[in-house]
Amino acid sequence: MSLRVVFLGTSGAIPTLKRSLPAVLVQRGNEQLLFDCGESTQRQMITAKVGFHKKMKIFLSHLHGDHVLGLPGLLQTMALMDRTKTLEIYGPEGTAAFLKCVSETLRFGLTFQVETREVRDAGVVCSENDYAVEAAWTNHVMPSLAYAFLEKPRTGKFYPEKADLLGVPKGLLWSKLQHGQSISFLDGRVVKPEEVTGKARRGRKIVYSGDTRPFKGFAKFAVHADLLVHEATFDDTLAEKAELDGHSTPSQAALQAKHAKARMLVLTHVSARYADSRLLLEQAKTVFPNSIVAEDFMVLELPLGE
Ligand SMILES: [Zn+2]
Ligand SMILES: [Zn+2]
Repeated sequence: MSLRVVFLGTSGAIPTLKRSLPAVLVQRGNEQLLFDCGESTQRQMITAKVGFHKKMKIFLSHLHGDHVLGLPGLLQTMALMDRTKTLEIYGPEGTAAFLKCVSETLRFGLTFQVETREVRDAGVVCSENDYAVEAAWTNHVMPSLAYAFLEKPRTGKFYPEKADLLGVPKGLLWSKLQHGQSISFLDGRVVKPEEVTGKARRGRKIVYSGDTRPFKGFAKFAVHADLLVHEATFDDTLAEKAELDGHSTPSQAALQAKHAKARMLVLTHVSARYADSRLLLEQAKTVFPNSIVAEDFMVLELPLGE
């Protein structure tokens, strides 16, 4: 199953010529999960050619304008394109009121169902057959959520020679074992998947911080993330301002990545004051070498782990 992250918007608060407002799209197979929906997200989606008709969920970190004002336009465009699939929208308390107010004021009719699910408690907010999304409260200037996308473990590597030895004929029965189902023969003999496969393989994990100051507990939430997408609004010399405004600096984000034992850190939500992001990158790399700064339309592929 393919897993890609498309950075649709990487600025914070104000857009720049090069950076649109926050929106990070996770594409898994034919499904899309959008984290935040800053103004102009729909136009970024057109440029990135990611499509408007796919199975989709949107997760809002918080209700600051830079993270949600793209939603009304995106919904209207989807309706104009005759989207039919249900759209699930997750966010903190106030998300439903915001959507109700917008749709009543602008009087737009939709061609599809919108299911709004306000997150009241940290923990699993959505669980599908093969993945889940967890939320954690962050430390911002208003209630704000971080999200973790976690694939459930996959069955281990399949060993055909073991299946042969146990007399399992190739074909449908092999496929059942590969998909974690036991099979039984007419004589009552049962072959379990663990007899012909290696140990279960861990799923991939992507964590999105939303807006936040550094806080205790985040590293645990992000532990062993393959990809940690963390805000770094201001550089280290503006740490006091970051603290005041509820944001993080590159070395603070990098320290979270280090404590979480993440594989890779991507900095985003970059203040409009940085035309050149090299300073942010240098500051992060001194603490966590495998860091990069996101750019609009940057795409990262996450290969299946063994
Ligand atoms: Zn923001
Ligand atoms: Zn904010």
